Amino acid sequence: MNYFRKLMYVFSALFFGLTMFAQENNNLNVYAITNVNVVPMDKEEILEDHTVLVENGRITAVGPSAAIQLPPNTVKIDGQGRYLIPGLTEMHGHIPGEDRPQYVEDVLFLYIANGVTTVRNMLGNAYHLKVRDRVERGELPGPKIFAAGPFFSKDLAPTPEAANREVRRQKEAGFDLLKMGSIDKATYGQMAKTAKEEGIPFGGHIPVEVGLTGALDAGQRSIDHYDRYVEFLVPEDAKTEGVSAGFFGSGLMLLIDKSRIPEAVRRTVEAGTWNVPTLSLIEHLASPEPAAQMIKWPEMKYMPQDVLEGWVNFKNDYSKREDFKPEATKALVELRRELTKELHDSGAQIALGSDAPQFFNVPGFSLHSEMEMMVTAGLTPYEVLVTGTRNPAFYFDTPEEFGTIEPGKRADLLLLNANPLENISNTQKIHALIVNGKLYDRETLDRRLLEIERN
Ligand SMILES: [Zn+2]
Repeated sequence: MNYFRKLMYVFSALFFGLTMFAQENNNLNVYAITNVNVVPMDKEEILEDHTVLVENGRITAVGPSAAIQLPPNTVKIDGQGRYLIPGLTEMHGHIPGEDRPQYVEDVLFLYIANGVTTVRNMLGNAYHLKVRDRVERGELPGPKIFAAGPFFSKDLAPTPEAANREVRRQKEAGFDLLKMGSIDKATYGQMAKTAKEEGIPFGGHIPVEVGLTGALDAGQRSIDHYDRYVEFLVPEDAKTEGVSAGFFGSGLMLLIDKSRIPEAVRRTVEAGTWNVPTLSLIEHLASPEPAAQMIKWPEMKYMPQDVLEGWVNFKNDYSKREDFKPEATKALVELRRELTKELHDSGAQIALGSDAPQFFNVPGFSLHSEMEMMVTAGLTPYEVLVTGTRNPAFYFDTPEEFGTIEPGKRADLLLLNANPLENISNTQKIHALIVNGKLYDRETLDRRLLEIERN
């Protein structure tokens, strides 16, 4: 070998080494989960003794273990006796603001440590777009983020003209969703029209003047918390004078006519609007368990003290409110379970969301509580998992991207120690997970969780 060729050889070896190093830093490792029970979630089945190959953050092969060839340098994860499911989506999550960067990092990690690999951030500003992009680039461990912009309130959009401008501004800024709050009817109409032109979805609450059918007719993409369903169930001739709707209609519960449920369900199915139930939001608030007791739940140790205090104060104040009558809130919880079952069985679109971190919902942990509540409402564990895996991918119009375990999909994967189809609480038994191309084993997750506990 002459000198020049030798030099070339050294250079190319160096270049190759640098490439490998870069790959390592970009989490472009090759992983294989071997001999695992795959729960693919495209239909209700378990593929026994399968191997799933992950390259550059994508699933590249799924097949019987004996048939899958592993490239050299594959990192193997033993899946024997374990269950592999797609990552979960929190469709109503919140990421804190820029005044608390450490809390933001902790919340992002709490999501992924619980298997939440996608979050629809239901309120935000330009800062959250930066967080979204930093996570995407692998600079910050966290779930994939879909970012809603600032809340459409009467302050933000006092007139149709203001709504028109604000929709265009949020679309231009790069937000993925317009978050609905309380705006007047004409402003809502203009917002919906401009949003349609701009191709940006709107979802969240429904302004009281617009009501359930108004939102369905306008093409609202999602209704969160079953907002305005209670109002729809109150017959027109009911004596509502002087009655305040209160928290999600709790004040109206004694006036509703349940024979109107099928009509509400039928119109929802026809409109194709999604519901994100957030059962836990209301169940936590309505539960007879004292707030001081609730903040002793094991997952509470990961939350900042002032956040816990805020939750305690809110629940204590709420229990003194005029519209809080234990009987009515109990009926509200039951109605919401009934709606969940009826909407689901009638073919309405449902996506999993708990509203974290609000009211005793610790990010990530609360999504598992939400799933248990949906099982209590009458869905099977498989049906609940559909709402948290495949359905969100359809909500975002990207079913080819994620939500099931198939070649070509994003490798958002949870390796569980037990079968989630037998018992939904088995989704909490996470042995390892892959998100954004990176593997987190139990030890890594626990180490970081301990840090958050100490923060
Ligand atoms: Zn929320």
